[in-house]
Amino acid sequence: MARDPRYDVLFEPVEIGPVTAKNRFYQVPHCNGGGYRDPSAAAEMRRVKAEGGWGVIFTEQTEMHHGSEIAPYIELRLWDDDDLPILAKMADAAHEHGALAGTELTFAGVNGPNLYSREVPLAPTAMPIRTYTSDPVSARAMTRRDIRDLRRWHRNACLRAKRADYDVICLYAAHGHGVFQHFLSTATNQRADEYGGSLENRARLLREVLEECKDAVGDRCAITLRLSLVESIGELGFSNAEIRDLIEMHAELPDLWDLAHGTWAECSGPSRFVEEAGQQPLIEGIKALTPKPVVGVGRFTSPDVMARQVNAGILDFIGCARPSIADPFLPRKIDEGRIEDIRECIGCNICISGDMTMSISRCTQNPTFMEEWRKGWHPERIAPKGASDSVLVVGAGPAGLEAARALGERGYRVVLAEAGTRVGGRVARERELPGLAAWGRVADYREYQLSQMANVEIYLDNELAADDILDFGFEHVCLATGSSWRADAVARHHVVPIADDGSLPRFTPDDLMAGRLPAGGVVLYDDDHYYMGGVIAELLAVHGCAVTLVTPAAQVSAWTVNTLEQRSIHARLLELGVDIVLNRAVCAIAGGEVRSECVYSGRELSHAADAVVMVASRVGNDAVWRALVAREDEWAARGIASIRLIGDAEAPAPIAWATYAGHRYARELDTPARGDALPFRRELTQLQD
Ligand code: ADP
Ligand code: SF4
Repeated sequence: MARDPRYDVLFEPVEIGPVTAKNRFYQVPHCNGGGYRDPSAAAEMRRVKAEGGWGVIFTEQTEMHHGSEIAPYIELRLWDDDDLPILAKMADAAHEHGALAGTELTFAGVNGPNLYSREVPLAPTAMPIRTYTSDPVSARAMTRRDIRDLRRWHRNACLRAKRADYDVICLYAAHGHGVFQHFLSTATNQRADEYGGSLENRARLLREVLEECKDAVGDRCAITLRLSLVESIGELGFSNAEIRDLIEMHAELPDLWDLAHGTWAECSGPSRFVEEAGQQPLIEGIKALTPKPVVGVGRFTSPDVMARQVNAGILDFIGCARPSIADPFLPRKIDEGRIEDIRECIGCNICISGDMTMSISRCTQNPTFMEEWRKGWHPERIAPKGASDSVLVVGAGPAGLEAARALGERGYRVVLAEAGTRVGGRVARERELPGLAAWGRVADYREYQLSQMANVEIYLDNELAADDILDFGFEHVCLATGSSWRADAVARHHVVPIADDGSLPRFTPDDLMAGRLPAGGVVLYDDDHYYMGGVIAELLAVHGCAVTLVTPAAQVSAWTVNTLEQRSIHARLLELGVDIVLNRAVCAIAGGEVRSECVYSGRELSHAADAVVMVASRVGNDAVWRALVAREDEWAARGIASIRLIGDAEAPAPIAWATYAGHRYARELDTPARGDALPFRRELTQLQD
């Protein structure tokens, strides 16, 4: 199909200093949890994006000197020449399909605890290190000599980046993560010399380094600046107006302005709290202040919104991190007139959790993310089917939908049977919860793809029992029957049910999502710690309940620290008047009251309530599977070669785990068993003498 001419503007080439991007699709720097530990996995991920049509492809942040690093988080390093092969591999990957390769040099300053290098951190002003984990170390104030060193280190890093064949070199001054931001901010720069005080002084280092970097490599490399549009850290942080002054003052200094929202949590705001193009009010009008191109982000997945950003003179480049993860082929799909095939990011931030947990990133929508090299999974290509022909997939939640989609793509004859009257499973229900509408894209994308496949049939309102499944005689059966929330408080704090005299009605998220809501005063017990407790509290508060959220954790929705939502969730619940009780576990329901115990002292308290909502844990719906396993001796006679349980039914987890399980099932069907072999490639550290 041909490209819609409305989107032609997105495919115009744009100059960035001495280089030219082939189009306006700009993959801004983003972490992947792999970094220096998994460089081949990261390089292949970037290569696939280049193949998918991105004009500019960045690495994650690159620690440009060992004197400032952010261990335990795993990013890239450019400490000396030994790092060059890793960096070069990524640049080569981007070049393979005509993209410009970019790297983001980071000197973390007051954000770098140097837990690995053990150097004393350097910052504009002496103060405790500012990290997510409040590491108990401090930075010392940089002397003029340190500043001269820092300038030289940047020049050297640029020369190295050029040798690694990068086209665009970005200085990081955003999200509170880079030293240039620390100099710009009067919160972190309280110097009395020529590098502190006025905006001109606070921008002095930035100006010097930008000029020197250009001088060093500007003949061939563009030097750009990634800047927060507002600092969002209270009175002393810089405002959007001050950033506009800075841009006006130094309009031609960088070859491009890469503008990010305030904190990382704002810039990578989840769909629950931030809309597509949410940054627009902060960025509008900036293009008029500078002749240099401007890139901004906004979880852009709609080509109409993208084209509007360019046509309205707001942006020159469409900056994307998450949309490029969810669909590495987004530009190509727009180019080829395949808008319906775009796998839109849902804004869940599971990708970020891979970096925050220092594991490796995964994506809810794109199960191949970071498996491109490890497992050889390509997001748009899959091997044709193997020897067998037919597969019955039971359950049309994220796992079953993705299994059916990928099996269909491989060419199997697939029947997808679903007990309910719509597809989507948990996603069909959860998309109705406050703030989670965009999560429905997990089902929408797959439902559309399946509708295009003649070899896949979907049967709704079809609850299958073991007998049905044995009678059908499909060669393979994949059970993706999901999970159910338990009502007995069993999760982490309690591993056996709590005492309950039945004096209060109990609800689970399943009840609420089915429209059965309590009234009056509600104690919500959260021992799940991901989003559900906070979302349910919001639902109940909006419904008019007086909500007391009790959790044994020290934070509401504690795991959402990893998806950058925890602070927004806590703030939202405060706004809604939810009473938050931390470090306590509900331990009994008796005499019309809820009792809780302190996790430290065991001291008990009573809470008056009309109902209890348990957001504790889920159990897999595996009854049909167990019934089938008990009759394994009948399988062969009925033509069944395999029956597998996948997704939440096997082990409940976030949605990303379910789409991954479905995808993996489809990929591995009819492939030779690997026995005990490691099922993925990995990078091994090479021993030095
Ligand atoms: P997952 O996240 O693993 O995909 P979900 O809970 O989202 O799991 O989806 C499971 C789906 O399976 C639900 O839509 C549910 O209605 C369906 N299901 C469960 N048991 C059966 C069954 N016996 N026959 C058909 N569909 C079933
Ligand atoms: Fe988007 Fe979620 Fe995928 Fe991240 S994990 S790219 S937020 S869908």
